[in-house]
Amino acid sequence: MKLRKLYLTNNLCYMTGKKHTPKGVMVHSTGANNPRLSRYVGPDDGMLGPNPYNNHWNQPTPGGRKVCPHAFIGKLKDGSIATYQTLPWDMAGWHSGSGSLGLARNANNTGYIGFEICEDGLADPVYFSLVYREAVELAAYLCALYDIRPVRPYLIDHSEGHFLGIASNHADVMHWFPRHGKSMDSFRADVEAEMAKFTDRELLKAVARISDIVPGGIDVLMWSGSNKEWKAKYVDTLLLKIANALE
Ligand SMILES: [Zn+2]
Repeated sequence: MKLRKLYLTNNLCYMTGKKHTPKGVMVHSTGANNPRLSRYVGPDDGMLGPNPYNNHWNQPTPGGRKVCPHAFIGKLKDGSIATYQTLPWDMAGWHSGSGSLGLARNANNTGYIGFEICEDGLADPVYFSLVYREAVELAAYLCALYDIRPVRPYLIDHSEGHFLGIASNHADVMHWFPRHGKSMDSFRADVEAEMAKFTDRELLKAVARISDIVPGGIDVLMWSGSNKEWKAKYVDTLLLKIANALE
């Protein structure tokens, strides 16, 4: 997973700034054929690439809608896949709408972190396998970080959320995954297997807290991992970053 951070600070959701305690993860896909992150995340940080229409979601109500997920998965300008965190995980997002159980019970108001996978034309197996893998790693990271069990109803997609009465009537991601031999059940199994890599959750949580205070964040997966050689190489840089963040 290539996890980067660009909070959508001009989005009304971020400005509202309601806090929540993460208790679940909801997987979405964008419903439009545009795999580029720059369509949704901006302004350009040099890696995203420009958005010629300036219609990214770092504005109060994108397209006139109150929408803001916690992250997007899609293509950088060089064509590689990345994840951009767009809201603090502990801030309530606007990604699920409301289901039959009403506003107070919808996923936005009950602690679900929601991330969007940028859709392409849905037929390309190469793009699908890359973003599926990225989504597995992101979901595993979030489940490990917040002690969320990777089972229904804690790890679900939007369509399952609708079925459970906690999200609006959308088909994502089950209009897409089965075209490539995947389902939310296989996704949950893959996430559970991936979570086994997080052997030291205390360290993971500590590193994530440091990443929150350092501008641009730090590489949480590397710093919470077991590659001591890599850590030894970058520890001085890390200390300087932390000291600067404290000023
Ligand atoms: Zn959705």
